Amino acid sequence: MKSKFSLLIAISALALLALCAIQAYLISNTYELKKTAFFNETSNAVSEIANDRELDSLYDALIEVDLEDHLADYFNESITKRQVVERFYRNADTYNEQYMQRYEALQLQKELGYEVAYRQNLLSIVIIDYPNTDTIFPIKDNERERIFGQKFKTGISRSINYARTFDTNEFIDRRGDSISISSYDFEVRTTQEIQVPNWKSLVLKRMWVLIVGSIILFLFVIGLLYYSIKNLITQKKIAEVKTDFINNVTHELKTPLATLGIATKSLRNEAIKSNPDAFNNTLGIVERQNSRLQKLIDQVLTNSLSAEELQLNKEQVSDNVFFNNLLSDFEIATQHAHLTVLNKVYSPEVLLRIDRFHLTTALLNVLENAVKYGKDQVTVTVITRLVNRNYCIEISDNGMGVSPTDQKAIFDKFYRAGNSDIHNVKGLGLGLYFTHQIITAHGGTITLKSIENEGSTFTIKLPL
Ligand code: ADP
Repeated sequence: MKSKFSLLIAISALALLALCAIQAYLISNTYELKKTAFFNETSNAVSEIANDRELDSLYDALIEVDLEDHLADYFNESITKRQVVERFYRNADTYNEQYMQRYEALQLQKELGYEVAYRQNLLSIVIIDYPNTDTIFPIKDNERERIFGQKFKTGISRSINYARTFDTNEFIDRRGDSISISSYDFEVRTTQEIQVPNWKSLVLKRMWVLIVGSIILFLFVIGLLYYSIKNLITQKKIAEVKTDFINNVTHELKTPLATLGIATKSLRNEAIKSNPDAFNNTLGIVERQNSRLQKLIDQVLTNSLSAEELQLNKEQVSDNVFFNNLLSDFEIATQHAHLTVLNKVYSPEVLLRIDRFHLTTALLNVLENAVKYGKDQVTVTVITRLVNRNYCIEISDNGMGVSPTDQKAIFDKFYRAGNSDIHNVKGLGLGLYFTHQIITAHGGTITLKSIENEGSTFTIKLPL
């Protein structure tokens, strides 16, 4: 049964883990899809902006007018490659302000709703003279690539477009002795890039329903599983406790019934009938067993009452009188040869508002246990004192004590400490449960401090 139960919990935990993994996989997949969709959407919007005629004309002016002039100078050997690049970037800077103004105005019209940084980078400038090529850019020790646009922050940027301009340019060739018209082919490659600083939170924002829904669903499933397993454990415990209880009741009823059987048989016996002492003695046994059976049945019946259902009949009672009566009745009823009861009830007298009958039952359960679970020489000490407007009753014994594990459950219904020695003592595990119910109904508390083989102290606090 136990292994079946552990298997069930293990399978449930595994299923939950699998569910968690599938959910994580689905969320990460959706995240990738949403990310791609987000960047496609942004790229398309920015591409549309960058294709604007005014922006194109600035680009054309930079490449097809300025750069071509610089390349002509380079051919005429009046400037170096590095100077071509420097001049190119200087021209780009003069156009950039106008370029950005137009770009930002267009971006505003698009109403994207989030910040997008844009730049256009130079990839290469190559002069082509088949089959030879002369690379003007990239050039050694040049870190700049941006032609137009904003400076990017550190972080991921994305290319959205590549552009290739191929052109043939005629120029006045001043090389050599004579002036002539020559031409050259050149190719310029550029790329457009975007950067969205907070793209992660934007993508996650688009997924919030899915994420929140998954978390709620997951928590719900965990809660459901936890509740089901907890319920199952409780049901199992109750079933075990009930079986124990039925065994105990059967055992408890058998003994007085067997004694009653023997006693009634004895009463038919002529020898006993003719001896009044023996007759009365046997009758006494019948009476005692009868009252024991009555008590057992009462205990079983009253255990179904909870603290709310207990009807208290409170009255004003003097503590001294109450305890004197209780303890002397207890001593007489117990008929234990080696019982010492130490009465240390608080003096001066305190008036308590209690249900005399129920509180007597509650305290008698504790006192009787001191004898039931005590050693040969039983000493019970009852101390009462006033602590912070609470009337404290301490009942200590020098008995076998209760283990720390048993202490936790000692006030539970049907609970009996799991020691085999203890099970030689009769009981249903209802006495302390009922005591606890009565004390709770009085608005009080009951606690136990115990050391095994040394003794136990029950502390009851009743509000005044
Ligand atoms: P019962 O005595 O009918 O078994 P109780 O509810 O009175 O039921 O007690 C529950 C269990 O607590 C007992 O079975 C016993 O193991 C343990 N117990 C109670 N009082 C004492 C005590 N004074 N010393 C040691 N064990 C005790």
